[in-house]
Amino acid sequence: MERVYNFSAGPANLPVPVLEKAAKELVNYGEAGMSVMEMSHRSKMYIDIFDQAKNLLIELMNIPDNYKVLFLQGGASTQFAMVPLNLFKNKKADYVNTGEWSKKAIAEAKRYGTINVVASSEDKIFSYIPELDSSTFSSDADYFHITLNNTIYGTRYTELPDTGNIPLVTDMSSNILSEVIDINKFGLIYAGAQKNIGPAGVAVVIIREDLVGSALDITPTMLNYKTHVGNDSMFNTPPTYGIYVAKLVFEWLKDLGGVPAIQKINEHKAGLLYEYLDNSNMFKGTVATKDRSLMNIPFVTGNDELDNQFVKEAEKAGFVNLKGHRSVGGMRASIYNPMPVEGVTKLIEFMKKFEIDNKN
Ligand code: PLP
Repeated sequence: MERVYNFSAGPANLPVPVLEKAAKELVNYGEAGMSVMEMSHRSKMYIDIFDQAKNLLIELMNIPDNYKVLFLQGGASTQFAMVPLNLFKNKKADYVNTGEWSKKAIAEAKRYGTINVVASSEDKIFSYIPELDSSTFSSDADYFHITLNNTIYGTRYTELPDTGNIPLVTDMSSNILSEVIDINKFGLIYAGAQKNIGPAGVAVVIIREDLVGSALDITPTMLNYKTHVGNDSMFNTPPTYGIYVAKLVFEWLKDLGGVPAIQKINEHKAGLLYEYLDNSNMFKGTVATKDRSLMNIPFVTGNDELDNQFVKEAEKAGFVNLKGHRSVGGMRASIYNPMPVEGVTKLIEFMKKFEIDNKN
């Protein structure tokens, strides 16, 4: 069976050369006589892999020296709790509600303090990024939280809020490494791995040093950033194999020319699909033009039956996981870094043909 074009929102497709390298090294990693999966996380050979993964991420994202990089478990969802547990002093934070993942982050933070939702786009099914008015920001907030790219609704911030001295915290799960960002604008960045980094089971946290070390007393040891900073992510057994695959993905990205190069490719891929959607008589994008994501592109025909027929026929033709999230309906094409340009151009050809075949 040939490989399909996988438009899943996550876990998503990985670069084929990465899968091939992992397959080649699966049973016996170089001179090790064993798989990376079988190695002690304290062995020199594994620590080399870990250090390379970390240093590659630092290089790719241009992470300054005053930030710590952690590879943790528990997915992005555990960060919804770790952020307030570690950053609360006044037990107050500002959040912007731009969709399901923001809502989950807000609900979790509310367990530990007072949350001020400064803006929301729920009135229009989260199809845009709300305008932010800094006069509504809390002057005594411990941090300000945004979801930089909204996986389900296909929106992304193209401009960051100016939060002054208040640390900006972001969930970057679905757009980390997809475009150049200035780390200095953030106090803390977190991301689940299973879209642009590697297999599920790894979460990356990039945290400014001064934000480590003042967790609430109730914070469990495993949820305290200090625990992991102090042990270089090796307090307990880290997700060793996932970090190794992440290292392979980082090498792949570096060889390609790094984040500036993939950003150009991503803008090209997304641009092709948006251009087609803007000109199609059958398919329409659901997101405000200025807030369109480069990674997740929802679209609809306006007819549920036709949507279902499209998803079914697309799957038969090798374009899988195009069904939209249940709260938006229709379709969603997730086109993360590893999706080749050809995956998008072939999808567009398929959509054009579907449009002709089903014209009434
Ligand atoms: N945040 C965003 C933006 C996501 O897209 C997802 C998952 O798709 C999550 C958080 C949850 O991540 P995890 O499953 O790693 O907890």
